[in-house]
Amino acid sequence: MKFTKITASIGPNCEDKNVLTEMVRAGVNVCRLNFSHDTGDVQGAKIDIIRSVSKKLGTPVAVMIDIQGPKHRIGDFKTEEHYPLKVGQKFILDSDETPGDENRVYLPDMDVMRSLSVGDRILLNDGKIELKVDAVFDDKIETTVIRGDEIWSRRGFNLPDTDVDTDILTEKDKKDLEYAITKNPDFIALSFVQRAEDVAYVRDFITMRTAQPIKIIAKIERPNAVERITDIATAADGIMIARGDLAVEVPFEQVPAISRHIIRECRKLNRPVIMATQMLSSMVHSEFPTRAEISDVANAAYLRADSTMTSEETTIGDNPVNVIETMNKILSYSDKDTIENPYDWSRIDNIPENDWSRSVSSMAHLNKAVAIVVFARDTDIATQISCRRPDIPIIAVCDEGIIANQLCLLRGVFPICDKYLFGQRDAFASVRQFGIGVGKLVIVDDDKISLRTLE
Ligand code: PEP
Repeated sequence: MKFTKITASIGPNCEDKNVLTEMVRAGVNVCRLNFSHDTGDVQGAKIDIIRSVSKKLGTPVAVMIDIQGPKHRIGDFKTEEHYPLKVGQKFILDSDETPGDENRVYLPDMDVMRSLSVGDRILLNDGKIELKVDAVFDDKIETTVIRGDEIWSRRGFNLPDTDVDTDILTEKDKKDLEYAITKNPDFIALSFVQRAEDVAYVRDFITMRTAQPIKIIAKIERPNAVERITDIATAADGIMIARGDLAVEVPFEQVPAISRHIIRECRKLNRPVIMATQMLSSMVHSEFPTRAEISDVANAAYLRADSTMTSEETTIGDNPVNVIETMNKILSYSDKDTIENPYDWSRIDNIPENDWSRSVSSMAHLNKAVAIVVFARDTDIATQISCRRPDIPIIAVCDEGIIANQLCLLRGVFPICDKYLFGQRDAFASVRQFGIGVGKLVIVDDDKISLRTLE
């Protein structure tokens, strides 16, 4: 059994029903649809395909909709050419909508203009260009180029030093979210979260429109979000370590340490955590991963993240099924090794001894149980037990599709959506579905914990 889950980004090369079916068979647990690219009915059609694949295979698969969020962009230049920005030169960002040149460009976003201070860095074009703010006026920002490169129209930029006073949802995001909600997704991932209030705002937006308990995953990609990880993770239902933008906004050598810190925090707070971005990038065109990529995926399992994630290697890769098979192979081996050779990579010291979920985990360990069975009215109990990272599977039996789908993201949790098994509280038949035929079971039903032997 693979304990670490796979979140696969779905794009042009894997939205075909047959390809998706093979990907789910190969180990996909969560499908991520990025609304930075397609939106509306184009994404809606993909959601319908994912749902039908899940039904056909009789396997829960979660749908995660990733909302673009306030990604900042500069305006247009006079021509489509690339303009060189040289170290030491002055460059102005202003409120003048006329096309830019090598001395200035339009800054469409007035929230950014208001938020910047002297000394702040502006990183253009994935950090290839660095500007330092020299002066801030009502209608322009004067800067000096610290690191130069070429710039052209509508490039994105990052503001690592700035708490941007902006809404978490742009007008486009609100439209996308309104649409997404009509398709009953299991998760909404939010980009560029800066504070817990951003999550609360989106939760209100969702609950005003649906009674479905859609979960919110906060993407951590800004330094201020890293600083506020405890508050953000508490407000959200899960975290994605979005290493793409994160490695632009913080010095890249800090990303592994930040990732470890976030995983530990999430486990303490009972929140699932996804390790994302460039995990098997070379497989966009290659049949095999690089040695470094193999280690990156394995290390996510050793750190006991809940899920790894694929990006362009599945969306535009030559062979998305091979990517998932590869990731599955690495995770399955590393998970098994973690269990058989339990060097404690990820001890968390401050979970109280008397925490009930810790008691469940140690009861299973002391009795050499082969599985924990949870009868799940919602995701809470399975989440808490999963965050203690027991070394046996947690079979979570529920009677609602959305709960089973959301349980798909949790490390070591194997959901079954079956009204009869749930109603009968039939732990034995439930574990047999996963090929478990003998051994002790720890059974959790609300606040009742019991031990039974399957013979
Ligand atoms: C990232 O930045 O790592 C990420 C996952 O977000 P996106 O793919 O939306 O850039």
